[in-house]
Amino acid sequence: MTNPPGLSVVIPMYNEELVIPALVARLRPVLDALDETYEVVAVDDGSADATAALVEKHRLEWPQLRLVRLRRNSGHQAALTAGFHRARGEFVVTIDADLQDPPETIGDMVRLSRDENLDVVYGVRSDRSTDTIFKRNTAGLYYKLMRRIVGPDLPQQAGDFRLVRRSVVDVLRRMGDQVPVYRLLIPSLGFTSGTVSYVREKRVAGETKYPLRKMISLAWDSTADFTAAPLRLATWLGMTAFAGSLIFMVFGVVVWANGTVIPGWTSLFLAVLLFAAVQLICLGLLGEYIARIYRALQNRPAFQIGYDSADVTETPVVAA
Ligand code: UDP
Ligand code: MG
Repeated sequence: MTNPPGLSVVIPMYNEELVIPALVARLRPVLDALDETYEVVAVDDGSADATAALVEKHRLEWPQLRLVRLRRNSGHQAALTAGFHRARGEFVVTIDADLQDPPETIGDMVRLSRDENLDVVYGVRSDRSTDTIFKRNTAGLYYKLMRRIVGPDLPQQAGDFRLVRRSVVDVLRRMGDQVPVYRLLIPSLGFTSGTVSYVREKRVAGETKYPLRKMISLAWDSTADFTAAPLRLATWLGMTAFAGSLIFMVFGVVVWANGTVIPGWTSLFLAVLLFAAVQLICLGLLGEYIARIYRALQNRPAFQIGYDSADVTETPVVAA
């Protein structure tokens, strides 16, 4: 593959050995039927299972398949970043490994982008009934919050299944190895865009790689990367507490002037606790933003590519 392909399909994979056979069986015929030259960039995000070995095995009979390995587990968005760095196509489609995003939609995305000359085509989930009630509700809340932060241009229910053109990839690559939240960053860049809707399917095998901990972390990253509004919360909390204590002060003085003293311990204790809590929350928030500045200053690589099958010319060695 010396000429860059027309289409790159980037697939982040973390411990996805169970889904790879089904993925290859469903993806390959779809891509072969397209009128495009293509490559499939499987990004192994430091899997501890046989993911990489399996991809290498399939590479023996599928020359368009390419394996990029990160040295350690760096997270979904980092794997996407690695994919954007290494993909060579004019169109780059990112898709989950677990077949929750139907590969058949890739063709629609490419056609729409070509016909209407669009830089970005979002895959929009028209139906999430196969997701759990918990996932649907938390996702609903997440997109509502993000729309407030990014603005009304943010496509709803659009995750990381999307097509971007080379022009967009060039902008993304200029960010170096910073790891942004792509589903917010890309809409905020203002490229021409369209949407293709699809039905979110069930994970074909294995378990979600997004436990609650990672969901919360994604939601917080999305918020803190795009807005400093939580910092304003400190001011707001302070003002409210101040107003409250003014009222209480007046009340206390009036009661005292009338010759009584409010018995103290409980109210004093509660007030101290409340203000300590408010202060700690504000300090924590401040700390979160300072940590971000600190990390940005350190400029440590968020991920490292340890291997790219496109860099090696010999046939793959398969261990498993
Ligand atoms: N993923 C990854 N690194 C991680 C977590 C997830 O590359 O640390 C990949 C995973 O293999 C999958 C995609 O990101 O291809 C989406 O993850 P998953 O399907 O588990 O998330 P969900 O659909 O449950 O939100
Ligand atoms: Mg999934």
